[in-house]
This record gives sequence, C-alpha cells and structure tokens, in this order.
Amino acid sequence: MNPIPLAFTGLVLLSFGAGVSGAVPAKFEMSFTATAREDAVAWQQRARARLLELVEKQAPRARAADVPIDFKLGQPQDKGEYTLYPATFQGNDKTRFSALLAVPKGQGPFPAMVCLHGHGGAAGKVFDPKECYHAFADRFARGGYVVLAPSLLHRKYAAMVLWDLMRCVDILQSRPEVDPQRVGAAGLSMGGEWTMWLAACDPRIKAAVISGWMCTTAGVFSVPNCECWVLPGFVELMDVGEVNLLIAPRPVLFESAENDGCFPVRYTKEGFARILAGYKVFGAETAAAHDVFPGVHEWHGTLAFPFIDKALGGRAAQ
Ligand SMILES: [Zn+2]
Repeated sequence: MNPIPLAFTGLVLLSFGAGVSGAVPAKFEMSFTATAREDAVAWQQRARARLLELVEKQAPRARAADVPIDFKLGQPQDKGEYTLYPATFQGNDKTRFSALLAVPKGQGPFPAMVCLHGHGGAAGKVFDPKECYHAFADRFARGGYVVLAPSLLHRKYAAMVLWDLMRCVDILQSRPEVDPQRVGAAGLSMGGEWTMWLAACDPRIKAAVISGWMCTTAGVFSVPNCECWVLPGFVELMDVGEVNLLIAPRPVLFESAENDGCFPVRYTKEGFARILAGYKVFGAETAAAHDVFPGVHEWHGTLAFPFIDKALGGRAAQ
C-alpha cells in the first residue's frame, strides 16, 4: 500500500520542497518545561487558551444558540450488533455536514467514540474494511460504543474544524443512549490530527487514539506533507508533539507505522519519548502508550481497542 495517495488526495498534496517554509523555529514560545505537576497544569491552561485563540482568529466560534446544531437522523440500517443511521448536523459556520451514527443494540447508556477520517475521507470510510482505516468505527460500534463519524471538509487549516469536532461531542452527550462521562475520540492521519486538537482542547474527551499523525515538528517537516497543519502562529508556539501534553493525564494512545511515508518512525519515537516524559510530570506515565507496528500509513488497532476499552468500559477488543 502506497501511503501517499491514501494520506493526501487530490489538490491537498502540497510539498514544502527544499528551502520552502518548513523550518523548525530556533525557539518555541511555549515549550513544555515543567518539572512539577502544578506548573504543568498551569502550562496546559496557558497553552490551551493560546491554541483556542489561534483557531478563533481563522474561524470564529459561533454559539450553538446562534447556529443550532440541529442534529437529524435518517433511515436506520440493521448492522447486526448495532443500528446505523445516516445523519446530518449544522456546523459552526452553518455548513451542513453529513455523518454516520452507530447505536449498539441492548441496554445503554453506552460509552461513545467520535471516529474521524483523514484527507480525502468521509464517514463511510471509517466503517469500510477495504480502507486504510480497517473499519475501526465498525469495530467500536460492535464493541458496544455509540459511534459518531462526521464527514468533514478539508479546510485551509485542519484546526479550523475544531468547533465542529466539539459539536460532535455536544451531539453525543445529548443522546440518551450515551454515558456523557465516557466519550472518547479516534482518528487516522488528518483524523489523527483532528483527534489531537479535540482531545487537547476539549476535556470532555476522556480517552483518545491518535493514529498516523503524532510526530515532532522536525519530523513533519522532514517529508512532503500537506501544509494544512500549519495554522498561523502554531508552529512557533511549541513542538507539535507537545500539543499532546494538553491531553494529560487523560489516557492517549498513538499508533505509528514503521513504514509511514508521512511521519518517519524515528521522529514519532522521539515525539513519544517527550510525551511520556511530560506525562510523568503529571504522574500519569501509564496513561500514554505508543503502538509502533510493521505497516504503512494505516490504522492498526492491536493496542488501541483494549486501551479504549480499559478507559471507557466497552468491549471492542473482544
Ligand atoms: Zn491537508
């Protein structure tokens, strides 16, 4: 499987090329340097406020009172262990998005997962065993999770979907079949990046799987990657791997393929080492995990399903 077409479809393939942007700043504005838990928590608060500010500059957030989410369900399909509904909702900027909602059969309330596609993707792909997502959303649904998979647009900056991702959490928490205290997120590639943004900025996400995206800034710049991750002001702020420390002490698992053409594994290992060191400062080193597997730019799941089950109480690993 060639990783490039899977990750970067159509017009979104923009190489930095030699000498074009893509430099690691000599000094970051807000690197994680805390050695005590209270300093680490204070850093999180400052860093989260700054990230939200950067997103707000590109995409002002609308109040749900002004732009109602208006979640609508279509005709249900029987999928055996769960019922699948086509759905739509109104996004932050009034774009109407389609989505898929999977509801397990049986007695809830159930834990829930926001499941996110990457470049060139759509909600159906995360349920499709023939795709690089290996139907991870279907697996969560069969394992007793309510799954919401939105079909989101490729924006100039990936982080501009943050408000729509938060709307997905709003939707799940409003459903009677969902336990609002057990909502997680998972995504591959740009979906992994979206998961990082959502989990970092929205503490309602209680556990996350970031697949095929976690890396250091040097690593992301080391190969041609779509530049949608370069939100103005973001590269200067902190190493991109450190954003994941905003998730601490909540459980987070990263998947990195040994032959991922987008995120070279030596950089992902280095990124995880920094994340683990940061999680230790939060007294939460067992809450961060890294699944490095022989493969390409694709979902793996071997550690991810039991990891999410342990955090949220489902049974996707069975
Ligand atoms: Zn992109």
